This record gives sequence, C-alpha cells and structure tokens, in this order.
Amino acid sequence: MIEAQSLTKRYGDKLAVDQLSFSVQPGQVTGFLGPNGAGKSTTMRLILGLDAPTAGTVTVNGRPFAAADNPMREVGALLEAKAIHGGRSAYHHLLCLAQTNDLPARRVGEVLELVGLSDVARKRSKGFSLGMGQRLGIAAALLGDPKVLMFDEPVNGLDPEGILWIRNLMKALASEGRTVFVSSHLMSEMEHTADHLLVIGRGRLIADCTVAEFIEQNSEQQVRVRTPDADRMTQLVAADGGRVTAEGATLRISRLPLERVGDLAFENGIRLHELTALQASLEQAFMELTKEAVEYHAAVPGSRAQDGAPGATSDVPSEKVEA
Ligand code: ADP
Repeated sequence: MIEAQSLTKRYGDKLAVDQLSFSVQPGQVTGFLGPNGAGKSTTMRLILGLDAPTAGTVTVNGRPFAAADNPMREVGALLEAKAIHGGRSAYHHLLCLAQTNDLPARRVGEVLELVGLSDVARKRSKGFSLGMGQRLGIAAALLGDPKVLMFDEPVNGLDPEGILWIRNLMKALASEGRTVFVSSHLMSEMEHTADHLLVIGRGRLIADCTVAEFIEQNSEQQVRVRTPDADRMTQLVAADGGRVTAEGATLRISRLPLERVGDLAFENGIRLHELTALQASLEQAFMELTKEAVEYHAAVPGSRAQDGAPGATSDVPSEKVEA
C-alpha cells in the first residue's frame, strides 16, 4: 500500500504537487491520471524517495521508501525508458542488478521468461526496440518479486501488441494481490486497465474513485432514440425539459433519464425502434473534469501551453512531450 498525506513539491515558483492525500490499495490496478505536466512523475519520484517533498509525507507499506531494507523486494518501478549500458546483454544487465541487490540469480531467468525476452537475453541490448526496452525495464522492476509496482506511462510509444501485453501484465500482477500504480495521460488507456482512479490536475487531486464512479459523476448520461415519429418525439421531450439533437430519425437526448424518455413515447403512442443509454467514455468524462479545473485555475499565473496542464491551451490529452 502507498499512502500520501498532504504531499507537496515546489520547484521554485512551480507547485508541481499540491497537498496530495491518497492511498493506493493492493489487489487492484490504480490509474494515476492527468494531463502532461499535472505532477504524476513528480509524485512517483517522491514515493520512491528520488526527490524530497517540500511538505507532507508519503509511505510505502507504512514507511518512507528510503528506509526500506531491501528496496527491490519492496517496490518495482518503471520510470522513463532507461538507458542501459548498450553493450551489455539483457541477461547481464539483470544479473548485475540482482547481485548488487542481494537477489538470487535464478530470478533473472524467471523474469526474462515472464517478459518474453528469453530468446534475446544474451544479445546486446543496443539493438533493442522501444518495446523490448520496456520489457527489460519491467523485468528489472519484477526482479525482487515486490508487492508494490509503479509504472510511469508504460505504454508510451508501444505498438498495439506491446500495449495489450502491458495491460494484461498489470492486471495479472494486481490479481496476485500486489499494489499496481500506473500513470497515464491517456484516458482511453486507463479505461481498459484500471480498477481505481486517482485523477490529478495542476498537482491537485480532483478525483479518487472507481472507473465506473468516475464516469457516472463526471459525465452527462444521454439517451439515443430512433423513431419514425422524430418530430413529435422531439417536441414532447423538449416540453418535458429534455434537450434533443436530431439526426434524421435518430435523436440524442440529454437531461432526461432513459425511463422517462421511454414512458413519454409509450404514453403518447410513439413507436420506438431504439432506446439506448449512452455511456460516456472515460475520455469524455476526463475532458469534462479537467475543463472545470481549467476554469477554476484560469487565473493562475505562469501557466504554459507546453505543460499541457489544465489551463494550458493544449490540455487535450496528446503525446507526452517530455522523456
Ligand atoms: P507529469 O508527469 O504529470 O507530466 P511532472 O511531474 O513531470 O508531470 O511535472 C509537473 C510540473 O512540475 C511540470 O510543470 C514540470 O514542468 C514541473 N517540474 C517537474 N520536475 C521539475 C524540476 N526538476 N524542476 C522544475 N520543474 C519541474
């Protein structure tokens, strides 16, 4: 379990992490979601003790991680794609890590097998693709068989097969009872991977809930109706306080629950060919939420477009710019 209490990090004028309090529970994948520049990597560095907080605390399994006796047995972390010594093979890179961390050498073979690199383990890693590099980084994170795993933007730049592999791996690790904490600026990615979400914008926590709760709380439920009597249905819905966008025989209705739309049709003898609840995607819900954060923080000076943070012009989730 990871627990943060009023965790704060300031870099000069920049408040990168602003009084974050949260806990990341074992047995599930927790998505750490926010636009670029929101403070995800900084928070992860604070958890790992790679940077000291300006204020507040963060613990892993009840203690600051810096105090861990055997760090690799407690936490496995994949931060940005790491440069490893290109002349060294994957096998030797991992063996070296195992030896310096007092881990059994047999783990090297096990993790290579787990990440699917056994066949190329003796080759120099210089020729590794981005996806292979990520697998090697994950192998290193798993070396100490840790109960807590952290991945910072693990799918960045990966092909669909690599993305699917990482997604399944994270789920499998969580199902073994581990704490899996994964950051992403891609809402669509978290929608398929995470059980729980921590959403941040401008260093502040703006949501801490399940994926389903997040969608429900942050998006407007809509109803799609198809009817040969679209004009009359539109009038009835509008008279009842609903809002209608029409496209021929298909109406998209907001502000009325699905049951009410169905009842209106039934009571007025209107034939329906479709009545569907539209579930907003996590992407839409996220945009909705960070849009509010933009308005709230609009007056904050020093907001820079390249941050991609709420308030910046490029807050639409896009490619991560920094490494
Ligand atoms: P994310 O991982 O969500 O993209 P980061 O944690 O990398 O966000 O960055 C949060 C904010 O803190 C950004 O505005 C970034 O420019 C700033 N920042 C991060 N690290 C440093 C640093 N070492 N010095 C100054 N500013 C930093």
